[in-house]
Amino acid sequence: MRAKRGITDIIKKIKEEKKRSFVEAHERFLAIAKGGIATPVYLIDETLIEQNMLILQLVKSLTGCKILHALKAYASYSTFPVMSRYLDGICASGLNEARLGREEFKKEVHTFGAAYREKDIRQILKHSDSIIFNSFYQLEKYGKMAKKMGVEVGLRVNPGYAEVENQMYNPCAPYSRLGVIYDIFEGEFHKHRDIVDGIHFHALCEQNADVLERVLKSFEALYGNYIYGLKWVNFGGGHHITRDDYDLELLIGLVNTFKKKYGVQVYLEPGEASVLDAGVLVSSVLDIVENDIKIAIIDASAETHMPDVLLMPYRPYIMGSGKPNEKEHTYRIAGPSCLAGDVIGDYSFDEPLKRGDRLVFTDMALYSIVKNTTFNGINLPDITVIRNTKLQIVKRFGYKDYKCRQS
Ligand SMILES: *Cc1c(COP(=O)(O)O)cnc(C)c1O
Repeated sequence: MRAKRGITDIIKKIKEEKKRSFVEAHERFLAIAKGGIATPVYLIDETLIEQNMLILQLVKSLTGCKILHALKAYASYSTFPVMSRYLDGICASGLNEARLGREEFKKEVHTFGAAYREKDIRQILKHSDSIIFNSFYQLEKYGKMAKKMGVEVGLRVNPGYAEVENQMYNPCAPYSRLGVIYDIFEGEFHKHRDIVDGIHFHALCEQNADVLERVLKSFEALYGNYIYGLKWVNFGGGHHITRDDYDLELLIGLVNTFKKKYGVQVYLEPGEASVLDAGVLVSSVLDIVENDIKIAIIDASAETHMPDVLLMPYRPYIMGSGKPNEKEHTYRIAGPSCLAGDVIGDYSFDEPLKRGDRLVFTDMALYSIVKNTTFNGINLPDITVIRNTKLQIVKRFGYKDYKCRQS
């Protein structure tokens, strides 16, 4: 009981510290935005990444599990040194991510691809410590080569349960191609058991530990008997571990129970959780036009710089703003592209917006920089890192970055 109280206190302290850093960093973001920095620009604060890392490290130290960062969500490698100090490595979706992980993160690389190209496989294996296959066909075709090269072999399965409502982001949606389904697994697994080191599932998206508990229940009911004797089980990503309301104690309990029951190592591979709330996108108001409503055209685009706004869709928060008509002056905030639907959303402000005003979009480190495009020839935002409160421009993009992707 005392140990449990101790953990609760530690968690409370870490979360309070994180909140304090968050407030300080957001004041810094605002000051930098108003101080005339060239826009559009991402500001990434390493203190905030480190606060997330401390939470992930706590989970590691209380469970002995390993945590990988999913490069798919965030791959700005100038901050990898602060992440690799705490995490065990990265998970990659294919050759380029595996190689970047090897070159810049310099720890374990676990690669999962829905299907690998024959011409890439040797390089993928060279850069991976572990490769996870999505079908028995690929396992058969490449598994032995992996073993020969000293790479561990895993199989992704469909755990048969998920609670992701948006089917776009639901790896267990009907007809999903992601993970072998149990009916096929049951008939085939025994033929390949010898070369399989671990099993992988990924079924969460921005979810809490209660959802993991229910997914695990389904996963264990289907695959539990096959886990004994394996080296590891990978619980995938989508765990929103660093969110304020995340139930760390439940996660820790689930991982510990699982490890004890099956005698395997457990991997978690969140992407979002590593850099949740750790960066912003600063943009300038270029013009304000009217068509029944007031529309502010800014130098950042939903389509090219924050595509999840249109895909999910969701409404990012702008610092100091309110919902439409909540504050005195309401505007539609829209991008500079020719796409009619390049609209970020409707927001209200205390003061009227003026041309040249800066808008700060929060929580933009994840699934934003990695998804950018140069559609419409729109320039990519600069990437800056704030390290020990000092700002450093780590990348500035221009015409050459647009041109080099055309021919
Ligand atoms: C997307 C993905 C992750 C990371 O997911 P987050 O939602 O960013 O935590 C991890 N593993 C796999 C297999 C994925 O597809």
